[in-house]
Amino acid sequence: MDPWGATSLDYDKVVNQFGIKQFSDVLNNIKNPHLLMKRGIIFGHRDFDKIAKIISEKKEFSVVTGMMPSGKMHIGHKMIVDQLNWYFKNGGKLSIAIADMESYAARGIPFDEAREIAINEYLVNYIALGLDLTNDNINVYLQSKNEILKDLAFTLSKKVNFSEMRAIYGFENGTNIAHLYVPIVQVADILLPQSEELGMPKTTIVPVGLDQDPHIRLTRDIAIRFKEELKFVTPASTYHRFITGLTGGKMSSSKPKTAIFLNDSPELAEKKVKTSKTGGRESLDEQKKLGGCPDKCVIYEMLVYHLMDNDSDLKKVYDDCKSGILLCGDCKAMTASMMKEMFEKIAIKRDNAIEIANNLL
Ligand code: SF4
Repeated sequence: MDPWGATSLDYDKVVNQFGIKQFSDVLNNIKNPHLLMKRGIIFGHRDFDKIAKIISEKKEFSVVTGMMPSGKMHIGHKMIVDQLNWYFKNGGKLSIAIADMESYAARGIPFDEAREIAINEYLVNYIALGLDLTNDNINVYLQSKNEILKDLAFTLSKKVNFSEMRAIYGFENGTNIAHLYVPIVQVADILLPQSEELGMPKTTIVPVGLDQDPHIRLTRDIAIRFKEELKFVTPASTYHRFITGLTGGKMSSSKPKTAIFLNDSPELAEKKVKTSKTGGRESLDEQKKLGGCPDKCVIYEMLVYHLMDNDSDLKKVYDDCKSGILLCGDCKAMTASMMKEMFEKIAIKRDNAIEIANNLL
């Protein structure tokens, strides 16, 4: 399960291999599923049936997410915020960890720098994308400043040994202790809402990309080990597909040519869409005759993930592309203009969000 090769993953195979269940099996249990759920972008889960039940009974539950402040937030990361918004509207209480201990241990980023990145790259955009981080039902914290979290991580570490960590994460003898310890802090992030001190609902959902599943499996195992002592219950999880980068590989913060960053200007976002890889044919004549390949098209993916809410409009793009009626030039121009519009809305909201984000930490 390699996060850097994730776009070429055979998701069905991974689902079978690691015991993740198909999300489509629980889709009918959800009254108003999120678009990402309906469109199969959220493709897998562990125990989501329990969350669906809680939501249908209008009971409270906890939602945990985390951000490692090490780079820029791009449109792929937006998917998490979209899901958080959906859970919040459906009764979820949010716990949002800023993983500055992880960025220090894994990337050597100083704590004050990580705080700045978290505010300017992540929190500001979380707010601009619609999350009211000042709401009492949303808890945002820096790992390094959270004493309850650090005490919990220490307690949890008593029941994990080096062999297990090496088997899961491939750590070697030369791995420094901070790097070894940080996954336990992440486990503590996920179980923190269930702690006596926080007292949030014990039923917990963690929406993640597939590369985070090792953390989920470790957390579920540790929750069972502390079932008697700390009354933990195993958290549920969902898994989403990764958005393809503009050049066709993985979208990555460390490769600017592959990504549209949330802090890009609307004009730059528009321009980046126009330079993206399509599923078009070699020539115009060929495309008119054979049709395009929306399933291999970055532009189409942008519409599916972020820009086109209406399913019948989306189907029309798909069908018109396949039949050769829609050509890439027109399709790109339409998508670029939609992206620009989305970024204009984000930019306006971001201006007001900076002060709020600063005050949060
Ligand atoms: Fe992609 Fe649109 Fe071209 Fe089809 S017409 S391949 S969806 S850009």
